[in-house]
Amino acid sequence: MKPLALFGGTFDPVHLGHLSVAWEAAELLDAEVRLMPANVPPHRPAPMANAEQRVAMLHAALQRQSRLTVDTRELRRTGPSYTYDTLCELRAEQGDRPLVLLLGVDAFAGLPSWHRWRELFDVAHLGVLSRPGVEVELPHQLWAEIDARRVDDVNVLRALPAGKVIELAVTPLEISATRIRELLAAGRDPRYLLPCGLFDNSALLAPYRAR
Ligand code: ATP
Repeated sequence: MKPLALFGGTFDPVHLGHLSVAWEAAELLDAEVRLMPANVPPHRPAPMANAEQRVAMLHAALQRQSRLTVDTRELRRTGPSYTYDTLCELRAEQGDRPLVLLLGVDAFAGLPSWHRWRELFDVAHLGVLSRPGVEVELPHQLWAEIDARRVDDVNVLRALPAGKVIELAVTPLEISATRIRELLAAGRDPRYLLPCGLFDNSALLAPYRAR
């Protein structure tokens, strides 16, 4: 069974940096990758595009391929949205299918502050997206937890539903949603930083354009 990998983010808007790294991870794992837009909690700065607009952009971005898909479950949830709860829900739906939570190495280093972080390994594998040449210091308690879980061979991970940690060396592009929002607000055209589907319908980028 093909693993199911999850890649979370605000996606305000989704850009080629997200898509290229998700695509590389999908190829390395031979997996379906679901992009999961996050419900931004009230104490954080609100995204410029609302949930419905961010989902519309994701659908426009993911046309004409089936390897990357969208999962909107976190947007439907009210109250705090914990990754652990999301993964438990997916586990209940997916039987023994391998689940892989994709995390950038920075987010991975902060894992010990997450809700029920040690139990994440009961429900999913972790795929750590590392940048070639970038070393991040991991806290001691994280090392202690992952030492026996680390694998290099994708096939070991594919044979189990959860519990392993694999490093996925990907090549991130120097693109951020912040920069794209700035360009659009300044009346510029970030043509080759965004998937072309976002330019097919002028309403999609309207939340960011200067009025
Ligand atoms: P912002 O600039 O608004 O903070 P962002 O571009 O970082 O947004 P997010 O939606 O916050 O995008 O990111 C979702 C996930 O994608 C995060 O794990 C983030 O680290 C990762 N990510 C963002 N940009 C890139 C990129 N250029 N290459 C690889 N991964 C990226």
